[in-house]
Amino acid sequence: MRLSRSLIPTLKETPAEAQIVSHRLMLRAGLVRQTASGIYAWLPAGYRVLTNIARIVREEQDAAGAQELLMPTIQSADLWRESGRYDGYGKEMLRIQDRHERELLYGPTNEEMITDIFRQSVHSYRALPQIVYHIQWKFRDEVRPRFGVMRGREFLMKDAYSFDLDHKGAVISYRKMMLAYMRTFQRLGLRAIPMAADTGPIGGDLSHEFIILAATGESQVFYDAAFESIDYTSREFDIHAEADLARFYTMMTTPYAATDEKHDPALFEKLDPSRRREGRGIEVGHIFYFGTKYSQPMNFTATGPDGQPFHPEMGSYGIGVSRLVGAVIEASHDEAGIIWPEAIAPFRAAILNLKPGDAACDGLCERVYARFGAAALYDDREERAGVKFADADLLGHPWQIIVGPRGAAAGKVELKRRVDGAREEVSPEAALAKLLGV
Ligand code: ATP
Ligand code: MG
Repeated sequence: MRLSRSLIPTLKETPAEAQIVSHRLMLRAGLVRQTASGIYAWLPAGYRVLTNIARIVREEQDAAGAQELLMPTIQSADLWRESGRYDGYGKEMLRIQDRHERELLYGPTNEEMITDIFRQSVHSYRALPQIVYHIQWKFRDEVRPRFGVMRGREFLMKDAYSFDLDHKGAVISYRKMMLAYMRTFQRLGLRAIPMAADTGPIGGDLSHEFIILAATGESQVFYDAAFESIDYTSREFDIHAEADLARFYTMMTTPYAATDEKHDPALFEKLDPSRRREGRGIEVGHIFYFGTKYSQPMNFTATGPDGQPFHPEMGSYGIGVSRLVGAVIEASHDEAGIIWPEAIAPFRAAILNLKPGDAACDGLCERVYARFGAAALYDDREERAGVKFADADLLGHPWQIIVGPRGAAAGKVELKRRVDGAREEVSPEAALAKLLGV
């Protein structure tokens, strides 16, 4: 994209309403604009990041064998009456009436709807197990929407639902999702800690929140140093092999167990002091097993191997896709702006033309830009060099290709890496080879 014709409205001033760094940077870099309290429009650069995150989430869900579908945002209140949650959900639920005075709601989550779909279509144990997911907008009328997209009212979530024959199967589905999550966060350039969470009346140990480390996080966590270095994408764990999943799960929970003070007051004693780490974190995902909590009251039955009807065992698995955009920035920025991990950056590189109108600069920039296509943002604006440097740092492109009149005359560009500021003067061909592998 040419920056002169792009809707990337960067701001020099820090917006007064933003309390945390990710919110400030998202507004300053022109990624989002608030349209109503807790509701945001995603502008082109921000939308690219959101799409990139959703793509990685999708790839890892698919690799785990989950099937993508798409359920609507608007749901019927009657469905929620069946599970008993309609009245209990309280003011967080946005309730709507249509022209016939039928009660609808904007979905905060989809357990009821997916249970309804399954009970209409699945009648035998032979069709199980199954995991399905969608990436869809949710609405929760949060008491205090804040921190930009981190706690919005309308937000994008990946939610998956597993259906199994029995508890043993449900445990396997749960572990599969946990491994898929660890892989997803690693690919996003994040270190995530799975932390045991409340299971409510169901009990057991099958509920985990995924916390990513960032100094400004809402919760304090204690974890094992091993979480900083495990490679979850290695072939060591076959996501479809039960034994590998069991080994992985043991590794995630003992002795690497992570916890917070609320869940385990004895945590100082539990972790080996030399490997114990303490940090602040942001919840970016939550998975839980809840057995027949929905299949029973909603009367979803299938015929078992013994010919008897049974209620399938369920679990649900959420990732806050839009929250992740803010969370990544919290974890990866400096005084000058965002530092995008390569996998989710809106643009792989920015091409900075320091002297538009100069024939050598224009020619060289156009040549490099043509090779990148949509993967680069070409700063062709009639602006001072300082403004271009500042905006490129603010927007956080992994690479900057800087083209000034002196270099252009000599057939050279300057290549700057955002993460450490390393610079080198190279030929345009060498820059292309390094960044595009051509
Ligand atoms: P929280 O405790 O932060 O309110 P939650 O327990 O209500 O989260 P879940 O119902 O488990 O969240 O939803 C799954 C994921 O969706 C969360 O891990 C989080 O990443 C994301 N999420 C939840 N609420 C919001 C929100 N208001 N804005 C943005 N993302 C959200
Ligand atoms: Mg909540």
